[in-house]
Amino acid sequence: MSSPLPICRDVTALRDQVSIWKNQGLSVGLVPTMGALHQGHLSLIENIKGQVDRVITTIFVNPTQFAAHEDLNTYPRQEQEDCAKIGDIGADLAYIPTAETMYPESFDSSLRIGGASHGLESDARPHFFSGVAIVVLKLFMQSQADKAIFGEKDYQQLLVIKKMVKDLDIPIDILSGEIIREADGLAMSSRNAYLDLEQRKIAASLNAVLRQLALSELPREQAETQAEQALLDAGFTSVDYATIRDADTLAVPSPATQRRRALIVARLGEIRLLDNMAAR
Ligand code: AMP
Repeated sequence: MSSPLPICRDVTALRDQVSIWKNQGLSVGLVPTMGALHQGHLSLIENIKGQVDRVITTIFVNPTQFAAHEDLNTYPRQEQEDCAKIGDIGADLAYIPTAETMYPESFDSSLRIGGASHGLESDARPHFFSGVAIVVLKLFMQSQADKAIFGEKDYQQLLVIKKMVKDLDIPIDILSGEIIREADGLAMSSRNAYLDLEQRKIAASLNAVLRQLALSELPREQAETQAEQALLDAGFTSVDYATIRDADTLAVPSPATQRRRALIVARLGEIRLLDNMAAR
């Protein structure tokens, strides 16, 4: 039988383990998550495993990236199942810090990252990227990891983290992993567990509409309007955005833009579903 997965819950224990590895000349990779792990998260672990000697997976449902009306209290939490999955896939350590470790009562700092953080997710969740940036920066500083990996599923978040690393000269390599989907195309997400049967059927059409948008030969604005209407016709309650942007900056593309990305966020009731893919 394999030995149980080591778990650290505070910075001292984490740093002790990491310094043992570093003294042995081993490189360390980090996979930050909020838990309720699915194949998307596990693919990131698999991916980074091939590129470093030791892998730390973190689980922390980060309160600073949730607004008061959002689902912080109901976000799925399943630590035991998560640790079993992390161990089975061959990560070396789970870092599951307490809220007190991440945000002691005296904590009083914030971070604003510019660039790709403007618009899209920030329009609906103005607090979101500050919360993500602060927790990810803390995880980088606490773990002293050499590399960290993030999913393209949260494409804007990936660009914001790359921007933070560049602007602040953080000595870490940022890797990215492709989106892992259910058989019908729905991007895997811990929040898919909120969908009832009827909503789950509607959710499947998001990826089909995204694909049409990404491949559309219509002028951009027309393609975006068409995608939004197709989502509403499919049964989505509302559409936060269905858009084509510059894949590197998320600015509205110009004729000179080389790489484009189609991004959609649509709502089923309170549930926000995100998806994106490379566009023509
Ligand atoms: P979360 O637990 O939702 O904060 O996600 C943790 C990491 O997993 C982030 O880097 C996400 O982008 C990534 N991730 C979430 N869902 C997927 C997916 N379906 N495919 C690939 N990566 C994902």
